[in-house]
Amino acid sequence: MLYYSTQKQSEPVELRYAVLKGLADDGGLYMPQNIPLLPQEFWDNLPHMSLGEIGYRVAKSFLGNAIPDEELKKICYDTLSFEIPLVKIDENMRTLELFHGPTMAFKDVGARFMSRLMGFFLSEKQQNLKVIVATSGDTGSAVAAGFFNVPGIEVYVLFPRNKVSPLQQKQITTWGGNIHALEIEGTFDDCQALAKKALGDKELNTKYLLTSANSINIARLLPQSFYYFHAAAQLNNTSRPLVFSVPSGNFGNLSAGLLAKKMGLNVHRFVAATNSNDVVPVYFHTARYHPVPSQQTISNAMDVGNPSNYARMMELFGNDHQQFRKKIYACSFSDEQTRQAIHHLLNNHQYLPDPHGAVAWLGTREYLEKENNDANVIFLETAHPAKFPETLPLYMKMKGSLPDQLKAIENKQEQFVSLPNDYSQLKQLLMEGD
Ligand SMILES: *Cc1c(COP(=O)(O)O)cnc(C)c1O
Repeated sequence: MLYYSTQKQSEPVELRYAVLKGLADDGGLYMPQNIPLLPQEFWDNLPHMSLGEIGYRVAKSFLGNAIPDEELKKICYDTLSFEIPLVKIDENMRTLELFHGPTMAFKDVGARFMSRLMGFFLSEKQQNLKVIVATSGDTGSAVAAGFFNVPGIEVYVLFPRNKVSPLQQKQITTWGGNIHALEIEGTFDDCQALAKKALGDKELNTKYLLTSANSINIARLLPQSFYYFHAAAQLNNTSRPLVFSVPSGNFGNLSAGLLAKKMGLNVHRFVAATNSNDVVPVYFHTARYHPVPSQQTISNAMDVGNPSNYARMMELFGNDHQQFRKKIYACSFSDEQTRQAIHHLLNNHQYLPDPHGAVAWLGTREYLEKENNDANVIFLETAHPAKFPETLPLYMKMKGSLPDQLKAIENKQEQFVSLPNDYSQLKQLLMEGD
């Protein structure tokens, strides 16, 4: 299978190239040339398959023979070595908890799969790779955890000084080894601009193999489709239309759900739930798409004004607004509504969501009221409530102590280098040590 660029100004490439490169040469995002329908036998066996097995079967249908079967199986089982349970809220509402991985956010799934796949491609040719990633919080920690100790790879995580939560900072800075944490005196946008400059630097690119680990990489997108099948397998009820509500920022998670549907998963509709960064809900209502600067909210991992996977979504809909509206219902919610949702779920269902999951729940409620009150709805819980200042106190009141994954890093020593917002110093650091 080949992968083409959404810009269509460069040639389709092999998986290896798409994964190690990240972004296509024309600035587009890679998409699979065709999306395979899974065979009847897969659906017959789905209710009895483990998460690892589902991942392997879905990945195999995409990746074909790009990787030996045994290797692919290992990568999938290793990526998915934690639970993704479907938890009942009431008769026709459930939540899929994607936060039981090492950094307690759904980004673990994509980051772990991508790092292992890259590691395999490098070991084949005995190459080394430098991964550069800018983060406002969750991405940096998931990428650091995913790549820690992967041979042949050095990771540089750029985070803005005093702008990530103390817990998130610990999750970025306490690895050591091949993970280099760089504190930048600037904003997230400055970090991203520096990373982009490095990735496009001619001199660095002739000396090293460089790539980005941001959500544009096709190797982060594909594995995020696995858990939609796993959710349907756990529900195992086809009498009502199935609807997923996805808390969205860059729309990678939602695009992966759309891939699962194209592979044959019987999903009636997806709810795209955003915070006040609402360019996609505005598109849904008006057919006009206007990226804007992002606004800060309490569901900060979704503070995106120009979603990077928009181009992928529109490819899947043939750039047709009517098609988009048929398969997606989009809505946005304020911080005030999100806070009320957290308390509503806690008081009425004894369930404490994180702010992102709360936005997704609001999406299901609006959908049930306005579109179809007979649906079976599943909202995605993308991070653990103990990770956010908004929900941490409520969690501590309920449980008394942090979950193990977060407790483990509390007393670890932070190691990072501070840099001014100055490209020449970053470049010098990237070239050190060889
Ligand atoms: C990244 C993130 C999101 C948004 O996911 P996208 O794929 O960018 O739409 C939602 N919730 C959490 C907790 C995240 O870290």
